[in-house]
Amino acid sequence: MQTAATPAGTLFVVATPIGNLGDLSPRALDTLKAVAAICAEDTRHTRQLLAHYGVEKPLVALHEHNEEQLAAKIVARLLAGESLALVSDAGTPLISDPGFRLVRAARAAGVRVSPVPGACAFVAALSAAGLPSDRFVFEGFLPAKASGRRERLARLVAETRTLVFYESAHRIEEALADLATAFGDERPAVLARELTKLFETVLDGTLAELRAKVATDANQRKGEFVLLVHGAGEDADAQIAEGRRLYAKLSEHLPPSTAAKLAAELSGAPRKALYGQ
Ligand code: SAM
Repeated sequence: MQTAATPAGTLFVVATPIGNLGDLSPRALDTLKAVAAICAEDTRHTRQLLAHYGVEKPLVALHEHNEEQLAAKIVARLLAGESLALVSDAGTPLISDPGFRLVRAARAAGVRVSPVPGACAFVAALSAAGLPSDRFVFEGFLPAKASGRRERLARLVAETRTLVFYESAHRIEEALADLATAFGDERPAVLARELTKLFETVLDGTLAELRAKVATDANQRKGEFVLLVHGAGEDADAQIAEGRRLYAKLSEHLPPSTAAKLAAELSGAPRKALYGQ
């Protein structure tokens, strides 16, 4: 137990870059230099990062499969007075990464847990997407199995907040297809790829347009992705009302398909929702 003679150390939860090494903050670097040891998801990966900054530090492998059993040992070190850092392979630990069990155990033991904030892929994506960001839901990775993925998406159809997902290169096409089926081809979305890296792209369009771009450009299927989807509901209702008003006016002078296309572009409403009104 913690005593006055041996004040507990601090567990620093340190964010690391999601691609661009310039994104490691000076405070993160100072913290990594100061701690007794660093708990890392993949020690080889973290050793490379530390080597880049000329830091040598004992590493403790802490990953999904050993976190539960290792947490008690790490907490014992913290209680004995050592300060430790927790990092993951990229970005902020605990965000679709290990660390939750350790942080919970440390807090339960009365250990100070202090964040050293920095890069996080979904926050970076949201900041550049141009979708409503006042309220959003971070859904992490969708289930790998098609049936599980579709069930999860079906539960999100009426969600009015911006939806944010992580996705890997080998499932990006399937994910986009399932999103379009669940939310409709015309739902506005953003695909943020390789953020902070050389081939960073942030594409916006309807889900159908994004599917087409990814299907026809092999480069858009490579790397790491954050997928953001406009929420349903009030906002969408207002857009549709505005789109229908525009469509009614424009179709007095233009063929229906052109009027609907323009009204959809101007209002942001799905084109299909404007036809036949
Ligand atoms: N802890 C990390 C964070 O703070 O964002 C996320 C770790 S999670 C295991 C990895 C996923 O994050 C990738 O599959 C991808 O969806 C997303 N991601 C990580 N780096 C990214 C980047 N540079 N650009 C786009 N997405 C990225």
